[in-house]
Amino acid sequence: MLSKRAKDIEASGIRKIFELVNSMKDPINLSIGQADFDVPDPIKDEAVKAMRDGFNKYTVTQGIPELNEAIKADLLKRYGYEPEASLVTCGVSGGLLLSFLCLIDPGDEVLLPDPYFVMYKILTQLCDGVPSYYDLYPDFRVRREELESRITPKTKILLVNSPSNPTGSVFTAKELETIAEVARANDLIVVSDEIYDRFIYAPKFHSISEFCPERLVLLGGFSKTYGMPGWRMGFAAGPKEILDKMMVLQQFSFVCAPSFAQKAVLFALDFDMKEYIDRYRAKRDLICDGLKNEYDIVVPDGSFYCFPKLPNGISGAEFVSRAVEEKVLVVPGTAFSRHDSHFRISFAAPDDVLERGVEILRNLAR
Ligand code: PMP
Repeated sequence: MLSKRAKDIEASGIRKIFELVNSMKDPINLSIGQADFDVPDPIKDEAVKAMRDGFNKYTVTQGIPELNEAIKADLLKRYGYEPEASLVTCGVSGGLLLSFLCLIDPGDEVLLPDPYFVMYKILTQLCDGVPSYYDLYPDFRVRREELESRITPKTKILLVNSPSNPTGSVFTAKELETIAEVARANDLIVVSDEIYDRFIYAPKFHSISEFCPERLVLLGGFSKTYGMPGWRMGFAAGPKEILDKMMVLQQFSFVCAPSFAQKAVLFALDFDMKEYIDRYRAKRDLICDGLKNEYDIVVPDGSFYCFPKLPNGISGAEFVSRAVEEKVLVVPGTAFSRHDSHFRISFAAPDDVLERGVEILRNLAR
């Protein structure tokens, strides 16, 4: 009954962990892919006001003009980037699907970082593309030779995700410049997922839009930054030719992003989240300082994940099942990678949960 396309897709490894959580009493859940804070009240108030004001109908497909203008002004201010066009999407997920549908022909290769956010691989396959990988191991850095060696005449998209899910690494200006040069030399389109762009613990965040604006689809999101993943808000920016077509496909699929949430995000763009981010920096330190003697761990400069190496001689599946016996939920690296060498910790959790988790993970390593 099912299409071949659907049959070929396996449920996400992370979903399986979600199911496990539901069956556990009082788990120490370090597997969560969303911030542990709620939407700040003033932003909620804007959403409620928009609803009460009757702003509940479809909006124009591309999203309300004032939000598109605010998004573009923000990109200009932060990166000096002036995209030809923008589109308000239903999360970065919406932007990923629409951009892939617009760019991938059957057999085209999409060059993904390894480790990668799992949606990239699945959406590539759904669009009849072929995932290929540039390795970021062991320190989660970009190497020119590695990148160049993975390019074939079929490569169409080079995917960038900085700050990264699952590693937390933030690419330096030099690394982004390398990516831009390789993309230009090989006539690739860069799709850059910058959903964690506010969760930055390094001195500075650079966007690839500073380096190759002419061949870029930039995807940004609000789910993580404002604790509103259920509101399904994101945006895409880039060349008019691609963005116009993404809008046409949005018209025939998602139709538009949620109306009231567009108004609330317009307000949120001016809302200072610094204290939330400072708290996340402290969470990062709590996890990394707590585990650094027992685990080989690259301290993340962004997002809310870290990706420690597994203790010697144990598979990800075995490690995760031992952790589960101690009520700790983490995700095996194989959910994000071709390599079975690491596991993902999310520190988007209350401090007392992180402290209990650190304690148990330390004991597990010993
Ligand atoms: N990209 C990355 C790297 C993510 O981690 C996520 C959420 N886990 C998404 C995209 C999707 O986010 P959303 O659709 O809520 O914007």
